[in-house]
Amino acid sequence: MNATPSSEPVPVNTDGILDRLAELRKADAPTHGGRVLSYVYDPGLAALDELAASAIRSVQHLNGLDPTTFTSIGVMERELLTFAGQVLHGDADVVGSVTSGGTESCTLAVKIGREDWRARNPRRAPGDRARIVIPTTAHAAFRKAAGLLDLDLDLVPVDPATGVPTAADMIARLGEDVALVVVSAPAYPHGAVDPVREVAAAASAQGIAVHVDACVGGWVLPFWEAAGGADVPDFDFRVPGVTSISADVHKYGYVPKGTSVLLVRGRDLQRHQFFSVTDWPGYPVVNATLAGSRSAGPLAAAWAVTQALGVDGYVALTRRCREATDVLAAQVDQIEGLTVLGSPDGPLLAVITDESVPEDRRVDPHLWADEVRTLGWVLQTQPGLVQSDGTRLPHTTHLTVTPVTADVVDELAGALVTAADRVRGTARPAPEQVLAHVLGTAAPGVDPHAALAVFDQADADAVWNIVRGALLDEGDGGPTVPTRLTPLLSLVEALPPHVSGRMLVEVVARISEPQSAPVEPTASAG
Ligand SMILES: *Cc1c(COP(=O)(O)O)cnc(C)c1O
Repeated sequence: MNATPSSEPVPVNTDGILDRLAELRKADAPTHGGRVLSYVYDPGLAALDELAASAIRSVQHLNGLDPTTFTSIGVMERELLTFAGQVLHGDADVVGSVTSGGTESCTLAVKIGREDWRARNPRRAPGDRARIVIPTTAHAAFRKAAGLLDLDLDLVPVDPATGVPTAADMIARLGEDVALVVVSAPAYPHGAVDPVREVAAAASAQGIAVHVDACVGGWVLPFWEAAGGADVPDFDFRVPGVTSISADVHKYGYVPKGTSVLLVRGRDLQRHQFFSVTDWPGYPVVNATLAGSRSAGPLAAAWAVTQALGVDGYVALTRRCREATDVLAAQVDQIEGLTVLGSPDGPLLAVITDESVPEDRRVDPHLWADEVRTLGWVLQTQPGLVQSDGTRLPHTTHLTVTPVTADVVDELAGALVTAADRVRGTARPAPEQVLAHVLGTAAPGVDPHAALAVFDQADADAVWNIVRGALLDEGDGGPTVPTRLTPLLSLVEALPPHVSGRMLVEVVARISEPQSAPVEPTASAG
């Protein structure tokens, strides 16, 4: 009845909020300066940070859901895709979309493969299943996508010495039930490019879609040779048979997180990616990607930064990556007891024990990484893995080299040497030993194999108690992930994956559990 709007003021209190955030941010690993050699890709150019921040601010209230209402979005997306298409040598048949990141690009590539397979096999029986063929080293995102899209995973072992599969092994897996073949440029764990040309030729002869996962390489390998690097094997749209490529702008494109591109050869193939609904009572929905409403911020930042850098900017930044990579790879190979795995094709390195030296001169890559960390640098430990053919991929330590690494490369190289000197001749605890310790805590006095069965019955709280007691450090504010990760990684290696997976889920899930009772609004004039 009463149409007069309430004049009651809305209680808003901004005091101290940003101070608190600044306080929280102090505990984060540094995003700039080259101290963290994974996750962050720092070009070392403050002007780009400013540009990206202003671009995000200027679009902060747009909704990326609907480019017909917010037309700037369509223009920025088109221009970013045009640039990506040029970089990856697409012609007029190559179209694409901007996604939120590599995982989304890869998931959409798998969806395209699935719908394409269904279209190619109209008379399949209801129970017929399709596979995706991927090397063991393909990013975990493909395993996630296969799970989400209910496809079988066919993992092709790679050569443990180089980290790449043979083309023949990949091609041998092709068949009528294959929805998609994936090759990487490069694969994240070891940094080498898969045999794209041979695999794409064989797959396309059978009408099978081929996705090149250049999430990490797509904005650096195209500039590698111009930046003075060695030749990179062909992986882009110049290779016949390649049907899609993912390239994360938020990695070597040097833009804030939230942007990747998925380029697809052929409009009809790409249309399999879309979702549309016109028979519900709300607005007609057409989504190219997985999200509905979405921020235009990451797109605007990516558009602005790529415009500002252009090809010349990327070549110059790639040169810095390349020079720092050369220095670090040479340094690692000079350290007695360590060596670089295979021959990486870009700025990613995996470091392993050099088994050609006597045992008491060897350096374990995980103990080494933990030691490097005490000197102020964060390297990434990666577990070993027994592949389906029985070969074992060694446990490694990964370095993602970025332009800013060049500014600190001598100091870093020195830390790599010092850390190796400290742990040379020391073996990490055997994975089985760590396992026995954890199981001993989980089920004292029980035979280790029987103890593993504990996990089959355990609920979330029981798993948490095991993890917390056996693996985490107990601090004032509760349990924290230890700074020395060697035992954790050993455990991951020794446990069956479904068990280690559950344990790590418990660690991550507990981080952001809500802590207090529901908030009651304070009673006010009603
Ligand atoms: C990072 C990466 C992905 C996944 O990308 P996100 O942006 O982390 O989701 C996929 N493939 C490769 C090769 C990657 O390096």
